[in-house]
Amino acid sequence: MSKYWGDIVEKLIPYTPGEQPKDLSLLKLNTNENPYGPSPNVLNEIKRNCNDSLRLYPDPESIKLKKLLAEHHNLSMESVFVSNGSDESLAFIFQGLLKKDKPVLFPDITYSFYPVYCQLYEVEYKQISLDQNFNISLDDYLIENGGIIFPNPNAPTGIPKSLKDIESLLSNNKNSVIVIDEAYVDFGTSSAIKLINKYENLIVTQSFSKGRSLAGMRIGCAFGSPSLIEALNRIKNSFNSYPIDRLAQISAMSSITDKIYFEGNCNKVIEARVYLEEQLESIGFEVLPSGANFIFTQHKQKSGEYIYDQLRHNKIIVRRFNSPEKISNFIRITIGTMNQMHQLVSIVREIVK
Ligand SMILES: *Cc1c(COP(=O)(O)O)cnc(C)c1O
Repeated sequence: MSKYWGDIVEKLIPYTPGEQPKDLSLLKLNTNENPYGPSPNVLNEIKRNCNDSLRLYPDPESIKLKKLLAEHHNLSMESVFVSNGSDESLAFIFQGLLKKDKPVLFPDITYSFYPVYCQLYEVEYKQISLDQNFNISLDDYLIENGGIIFPNPNAPTGIPKSLKDIESLLSNNKNSVIVIDEAYVDFGTSSAIKLINKYENLIVTQSFSKGRSLAGMRIGCAFGSPSLIEALNRIKNSFNSYPIDRLAQISAMSSITDKIYFEGNCNKVIEARVYLEEQLESIGFEVLPSGANFIFTQHKQKSGEYIYDQLRHNKIIVRRFNSPEKISNFIRITIGTMNQMHQLVSIVREIVK
């Protein structure tokens, strides 16, 4: 605390990202990064563009990238927004679309950045409990609200919602914005982007950090009706004119263009996820049904804390959440390569013996 701080800073409790350990020999399965590198085309484009042009500012509007994304999703360019990671899109959404005189609704167990944005932008919120199977029960959201946001699949549970359920929510909630955070959509979940032309209050965010192996470049995007996107542009242009640097813009374009590499990696991750689920279930774990590149699991006898510590002792780092209480026995494991999953399973077998 300092006498120079503004009032808001003193009260802020920031988001804590998963650890990025200095010890590179650890098997890092804690922050849902992709185990495969970006497409070789992306790397070549970065190298080709590492030159004197970096003295120039990037295109402030990322026109070429937005055009490509619009074509890719069959939308108009006015329905596309790009940002410095999808976290930045989310921040602008909370600030510009969810701050209302009624509370924004989100699950009690979800991406823990949402309550932090609410604090930062002084947005009122109400958390809705997951059901006893850790599912988001969308019927519980049909109450007065200033907006609704949840990830699909949800994090850290990994459980997806069907497009049919999302459409039913949209058709019953037309007076506020509904945000679907699709950070993990690439691993087998249907995107709500197809519904954008039908529902003007829908906004969908996506990330290049998980499925597209570009967490290090910080690229995200949002899709919605032109009027919602205009709100985000107003905030962006009142905050930072150049959020996406030159190399990030060309990396994103190159990644979108290399569809085969991207889909191949996502399929490998899904295959390794299925393997890991089967193996863990055979040794006494309950694994929530995942549509993401991670699983959320607890053992029927050993505590989450014990398993977490033992894994760490064996140089494997996963994620565990102390609160809320009902998930404190779970660990979240990022899906790696098949080899990494073999390595993990053989250590876990010893730990729970
Ligand atoms: C990883 C993640 C994000 C943010 O991704 P970036 O594009 O890297 O900022 C957003 N939402 C959820 C649920 C995530 O897990």
